[in-house]
Amino acid sequence: MDERRRLDYLGAMGVDVWVPRLVAAGRIESSDEIAVVEPSRILPPARVSDPADLRPVSPSAQPIPRTPPAHAEAHEVAPNPVVPGPVASGPVGPALPEALSPPDPALMDWDALAAAVSGCRACGLCETRTNTVFGVGDRNADLLIIGEAPGAEEDRAGEPFVGRAGQLLNRMLAAIGLAREQVYIANVLKCRPPGNRDPHPEEARQCEAYLLRQIELLRPRAILCVGRVAAQNILQTDAPLGSLRGRWLTFRTGAIPLRVTYHPAYLLRSPEQKAKAWEDLVEVVRRLRGEGCAVIGKGNDKDQSD
Ligand code: SF4
Repeated sequence: MDERRRLDYLGAMGVDVWVPRLVAAGRIESSDEIAVVEPSRILPPARVSDPADLRPVSPSAQPIPRTPPAHAEAHEVAPNPVVPGPVASGPVGPALPEALSPPDPALMDWDALAAAVSGCRACGLCETRTNTVFGVGDRNADLLIIGEAPGAEEDRAGEPFVGRAGQLLNRMLAAIGLAREQVYIANVLKCRPPGNRDPHPEEARQCEAYLLRQIELLRPRAILCVGRVAAQNILQTDAPLGSLRGRWLTFRTGAIPLRVTYHPAYLLRSPEQKAKAWEDLVEVVRRLRGEGCAVIGKGNDKDQSD
């Protein structure tokens, strides 16, 4: 039997035949060089539906999960983003695989936190902002100043307390011997509420983890809250500003002394209140110098100022 007919015959019988390249090319005539593989030894093609293929892989054989940068992830998942911020709202779905879990601000360093804020879409303010306003100043500062939210100029500049109110804050700091660069300045909200309205509680709640992490990283020796909105959000109270200023309070856990004073924008409209703001600043300086924490003002509960 010639080789071609023999191969055709074996093929018709379902016998797989390994043909040496030289035979296939017609350069060897002898059938002695043809190896025959029995059907029982032919492996079936791989089938992904085979339950054996779905067995868990040993941990050592699994690929290392890669977590994308927080800001990139936030952009990639729009318009229904994975919220890097604090609180998940709505129905709770199945747990995400670890590699897809939202990054936790509480675990971030400064740079990761800034990147997360710049890409954050956790509340509706991301739709109307020009820039996020993360914070500015010395990341080792003893004094943290907290305002409420960016205004129009801060939104454009991407920096808190610029414009006339910012300039007044700079002068107030200079009056107690501190340059703007020597303190850290941040806001409760990192994005501007349209029309400079007060932050909605849900917006403040979504944004809170960023500020809490800033405080944790900074570990300031004192916090100065400027304005009613910042004070009420930080202290989680509805008390009027007048009842909060003029005495030392503590930030939540009680570890950081906190003082409340007027917002510079309010002082521009009500310069007669600058004397009280000065008293607050003097107390902050005394605290930073370790000179005690005397109460030098009596809060006016009827004061509805900003
Ligand atoms: S205000 Fe805060 S929570 Fe809302 S989008 Fe901006 S950074 Fe995110």
